[in-house]
Amino acid sequence: MSTYNPKSSHAEEFICDEEIRETLEYAERNKGNRGLIEDILNKAAAVKGLTHREAAVLMDCELDDLNEKIFQLAKEIKQDLYGNRIVLFAPLYLSNYCINGCVYCPYHGKNREIPRKKLSQEEIAAEVRALEDMGHKRIAVEAGEDPVHNPLDYILESIKTIYATKSGNGSIRRVNVNIAATTVENYRRLHEAGIGTYILFQETYDKKNYEALHPTGPKSDYCYHTEAMDRAQEGGCDDVGCGVLYGLNNYRYELVGQLMHAEHLEARFGVGPHTISVPRLCPAEDIDLKDFPNVLPDEIFCKIVAIIRISAPYTGMIISTRESRKVREKVLDLGISQISGGSRTSVGGYTTPERHDETAQFDVHDLRSLDEVIDWLIGMDYIPSFCTACYREGRTGDRFMKLVKAGKIHHCCTPNALMTLEEYLLDYAQPGTREKGQALIRREMEKVPEPVRTRARKYLDEISEGKRDFRF
Ligand code: SF4
Ligand code: SF4
Repeated sequence: MSTYNPKSSHAEEFICDEEIRETLEYAERNKGNRGLIEDILNKAAAVKGLTHREAAVLMDCELDDLNEKIFQLAKEIKQDLYGNRIVLFAPLYLSNYCINGCVYCPYHGKNREIPRKKLSQEEIAAEVRALEDMGHKRIAVEAGEDPVHNPLDYILESIKTIYATKSGNGSIRRVNVNIAATTVENYRRLHEAGIGTYILFQETYDKKNYEALHPTGPKSDYCYHTEAMDRAQEGGCDDVGCGVLYGLNNYRYELVGQLMHAEHLEARFGVGPHTISVPRLCPAEDIDLKDFPNVLPDEIFCKIVAIIRISAPYTGMIISTRESRKVREKVLDLGISQISGGSRTSVGGYTTPERHDETAQFDVHDLRSLDEVIDWLIGMDYIPSFCTACYREGRTGDRFMKLVKAGKIHHCCTPNALMTLEEYLLDYAQPGTREKGQALIRREMEKVPEPVRTRARKYLDEISEGKRDFRF
């Protein structure tokens, strides 16, 4: 009998291998079952989400017209729930010291080829000023796992430095944190430090595969890693961000595992993940993609994004500069609500870009500056947003989810996007971007319903007079 139990606190019961394999067989048997697939699409259209089994059937669907419907539905749900704002962020690498042995990452402990670097607090402040001078307001802190070089106290001190560092009108208003799985007590300390989302990628949900890819170091403990989000919740971090590294393992298995993880968090804590990221394996120093037979083509990757969008409609979706401009354009439409821009994936990369080649965690395929990314988004009629309002207004965890589920979050997102865009345009944009951006703000303001519009107009006037940081 299967041990599958979404409410269990044990990794191997809420991510049950047997349940995943049965699900994949069920999907395989039904890949041409028009009646079943249409029923699933009808359920998805009601924006109530899908189970991992239903999502698996859609992933395997081989009927062209219904595959088209999947994409269409993903676009509609994205537009209805999130509107056309796209939130921007940048990663900030603090240290590439790491004692783990992840075979797909150049920071793995046995790699003697790359220089190791840990930023001092002064260097962190300099990186933050560089990010603020670009216009960023939201960052994701990244660090390898190394209790000697990067203990939690170092991470906490760094978060303090980041929030305290201001350049001109710039400030970092939300620090998300992507560090190794840790204890409830440490999550409590991160929560008290005022982090936004706690992010931890599962990499792969397949235990055997996980153990082969993580042969050494604390991360090799599959259960400890997989149960990290539960401990984060217990420690008060109620916005958690999940993701698998697509390309490490069979994508069908990973999609089902990802959705089971979301179902588990919902069942146990009443709130699913705040975000799901969709990183995909890409080339890096010391990593040869030929060693990874599961690397994904773009079409499958886009279908995964669309299916996550309709299966977990209330979860934000993130894509990084690992992906090219072309792929980012496609998936923005299908469900992505947050992207990075102007990113450096090396330690100290914003102040010493020449170090990038030596210490980058992975190759960046979208090399454009933040201003070019903003200009590109505006050109496609998206509203680039630097909003950080929810967490600062205490709208986290289930309070946030209630608003999203009531379809009300875009009443906050759109005016916040327009106001933070105006701040960016006035403080950092190139003249061409500013002109196009302000025309977009005028057009979009017409669509904002009253009484919010009047208030937002007043705030926009105050921003043009030099005041900053208004929010709904
Ligand atoms: Fe270390 Fe993270 Fe790289 Fe693994 S993926 S080697 S934990 S930095
Ligand atoms: Fe995100 Fe909340 Fe801002 Fe909307 S209002 S963009 S959900 S922080």
